[in-house]
Amino acid sequence: MAAFIPVTAVAPVGARRTAWAGGAPAGGRPSAGLCAGGAARLMPRRGAVVVPPSPLAVAGRRGGVRMAAAGAPDERVDALVVGSGVSGSTLAYRLHERGVSTLLTEARDVVGGNVISRMANGYTWEEGPNTFQPAPHILRLAVDVGLKEDLVFADHTLPRFVYWKGNLYALPMGPSDIPKFRLLSPWGAVRAGLGAAGFVLPNWSGKEESVKEFITRHLGAEVFAKMIDPFVSGVYAGDPSQLAIRGAFGKIYALQNLGITQGIVEGAIIRLRQRKAEAGDPDPELPVVKGGALGSFREGLGMLPKAVAGKLGDAVRLGWTLTELRHAPGGKPGYEAVYSTPDGPRTVHAKTVSLTAPAGAAASILGGMLPAARALDEVYYPCVWSVTLSYPTTAFKRSLKGFGNLIPRAMGVRTLGTIWSSSLFPGRAPPGRELLLSYIGGAQDKGIADLSEEEVVAAVDADIKALLLSADAADEAPVVVGIRKWARAIPQYVRGHLELVAGVREAAAESCPGLFLGGNYASGVAFGDCVAWGDKAATEVVAALGNMPDDEAAVSEEAVSTATV
Ligand SMILES: Cc1cc2nc3c(=O)[nH]c(=O)nc-3n(C[C@H](O)[C@H](O)[C@H](O)COP(=O)(O)OP(=O)(O)OC[C@H]3O[C@@H](n4cnc5c(N)ncnc54)[C@H](O)[C@@H]3O)c2cc1C
Repeated sequence: MAAFIPVTAVAPVGARRTAWAGGAPAGGRPSAGLCAGGAARLMPRRGAVVVPPSPLAVAGRRGGVRMAAAGAPDERVDALVVGSGVSGSTLAYRLHERGVSTLLTEARDVVGGNVISRMANGYTWEEGPNTFQPAPHILRLAVDVGLKEDLVFADHTLPRFVYWKGNLYALPMGPSDIPKFRLLSPWGAVRAGLGAAGFVLPNWSGKEESVKEFITRHLGAEVFAKMIDPFVSGVYAGDPSQLAIRGAFGKIYALQNLGITQGIVEGAIIRLRQRKAEAGDPDPELPVVKGGALGSFREGLGMLPKAVAGKLGDAVRLGWTLTELRHAPGGKPGYEAVYSTPDGPRTVHAKTVSLTAPAGAAASILGGMLPAARALDEVYYPCVWSVTLSYPTTAFKRSLKGFGNLIPRAMGVRTLGTIWSSSLFPGRAPPGRELLLSYIGGAQDKGIADLSEEEVVAAVDADIKALLLSADAADEAPVVVGIRKWARAIPQYVRGHLELVAGVREAAAESCPGLFLGGNYASGVAFGDCVAWGDKAATEVVAALGNMPDDEAAVSEEAVSTATV
């Protein structure tokens, strides 16, 4: 039975209480983070035009609630970015560095969205994403925001394990490991080899294939069940028979069209060569990272959005929930964004708006102005818990050297997978202890949403004991370092998802110039996908601003007319 150490002893104050609400976009109020603060929150960034309060507005302040004059925005910016997750933070920073008047608004009272890193009592742990693949664009952002010295990389040789019938199998890290790989049966290996060599039947049905259908057609049912199913759980907490290969793993899907055969291994070799040819000289300012290594920051991934917020200063507003977006009145370009804030309602006029809130929130914010966006409410996000437990190093039956272990659903183990956090990065646990981050729940375990924290910890503890601890440690009580319920964790790229998002974007392009839709339901779920979207969207926002008439005169007129209401 797990012993729960007092929350205040390990988790930060309020962490256990807020575990329920923290995953919800606007629901929870975790402990105050960077930039939370009264006066600073109300100060506009240099370059933002603030409409002076009218006599009526000043007279209308009652009990700390500011009553703005009807129809007058409280402030004006060129670029409004909604949501301070990886997507919104990247975009806001890239706009800010180009000198664009930018406002980054966040419903919660901390920046980072899904990225939640914590430190206490010698532990450093993640409650959302745990690592990123250190592609050059992420490293570039890290360097630009001043985090070069804080980057940490896991040893690229650390193996990833798959659990199967009582044993952990290290997945091959390269071709030389394949002969030693014992997870597949002889027939499973032959079947996979045939597919790899390009002996692949076409998709006769012509229908969009699920991940399960595509992998089974290419590499056989055994590779799917033992290697791909757990991988899909690890990335999406998804159901591979529902996720579409084109939407969820578009890069793998595209490999079948690169070679002479349909083989994805041939495609992968060709793509590797293409990438080498496309890559220019390495950027000397970026750290050199070995392929297969995973990245983070010294104090966890949360350092990135915090660093961005530090750069943006008072252009970040926390506790600001966007409730409605509408066209600016009088046929003028731009939008009026209506906010609920700790200081009462606020309206911001913005020439461009980039919305990175989750799909359901986007549906309700945009629904009035852009009816097509209501379809975003259909995007399914399953519930996932992240559970961080610690055990003494001596309790493990094997050395904990590796990235972690994934667990195929066929094994009937409830935990989806466990990251061996203390093996990845130094200083994640006190000496003599190991730190494990497990994810449990997902699209194939909907009942997980109804469990209590204690039940979830007990389930994860039992799975860790069965897979990783020695028999002598059966009574070892874990230290519960962190637990968080993500009621709506990761958007599922099921069949039709790409078309749904494209349809909304097309409708927006037609009737809402200067409105940009981002966030992981639209850009891809990986940390790197969100950074890439932010980089790209910054260029698009700047281009859109360049095409808009300068309305400074209109601002002054409106300010004057407001002041005389
Ligand atoms: C448990 C978990 C583990 C993961 N593990 C990994 C991993 O290891 N590696 C990896 O690459 N990816 C991982 N991911 C995926 C990755 O973390 C996310 O896709 C990414 O962080 C999403 O960033 P985002 O900015 O698009 O959205 P979010 O992080 O969801 O940010 C959206 C922001 O919008 C705010 N918001 C919502 N509504 C409003 C409103 N009305 N007004 C103002 N603000 C609003 C929210 O509060 C939130 O801060 C994981 C995700 C989860 C949930």
